[in-house]
Amino acid sequence: MDDFKTPDEFKDACGYTLENDVWYPRVTKIVEIKAKPALYYFYAKMPNYRAAEQVKEQSAVEGTMIHEAAEAILMGQKPVIPYSITPSMAAFAEYLLDNNIEVDPKHVEVRLKSDEHKYAGTLDAIARIGGKLGILDIKTSQEIYRDYNIQTSAYFYAMKELFPELSTRWILRIDQSRLCMNCGAALRAKGGREQVKIKWDDPFMRSCKHEFGPLVGYIELKELHNVENDFEAFLGAKRLWEWEHEEWLKKIGYLK
Ligand SMILES: [Zn+2]
Repeated sequence: MDDFKTPDEFKDACGYTLENDVWYPRVTKIVEIKAKPALYYFYAKMPNYRAAEQVKEQSAVEGTMIHEAAEAILMGQKPVIPYSITPSMAAFAEYLLDNNIEVDPKHVEVRLKSDEHKYAGTLDAIARIGGKLGILDIKTSQEIYRDYNIQTSAYFYAMKELFPELSTRWILRIDQSRLCMNCGAALRAKGGREQVKIKWDDPFMRSCKHEFGPLVGYIELKELHNVENDFEAFLGAKRLWEWEHEEWLKKIGYLK
């Protein structure tokens, strides 16, 4: 769906204009070239395309809200927390303290770039956890998808030049849901859509007439390994993305 009207529209939609008017594509745009089977499944379950788009847009708004609040907390600020995300933000603040996650406020929500590979992105944070320095990326998805490996490998190599000590990557997932008081099933509301998550191999959960308690937040931290392998995949995705947008990229001088 390459329906951009002007070079500037393409540039704004797909990348960042950096200092000296240099333009690089965004990491998240590049990663979009990879098919996401879970997304097809989501579309198939929705009544129609429009309804699915609405849920996606609303989810993005909620995700941005959580990102902004979390980053403000990481920067040592005391942000006003929108009521709807209070449970997840309380869980987040507690998690930071309990796990001794150190973040340098100067490196939260920063623009990054690789001149060697000509891409740019926005980093959530650089953190020190358990003695290691790593890329910390915040997600509000319902699980930690493997695609995040590709995205964060690009961040890793862009930042590695500035921080030679950088040695790893983490995904920190922030979520909230209501738990069934009888069986532990989770009712997750996102983008205006409610979803009950159960373990399908558990007969008790399957037959339970759920009684959901109050919203509770929870945090999942996952370290990602084997960054070299992920970065090869990123460069492959980048090549494919460039092929897809060849015409525009030549027009704006990014490709020769
Ligand atoms: Zn239940």
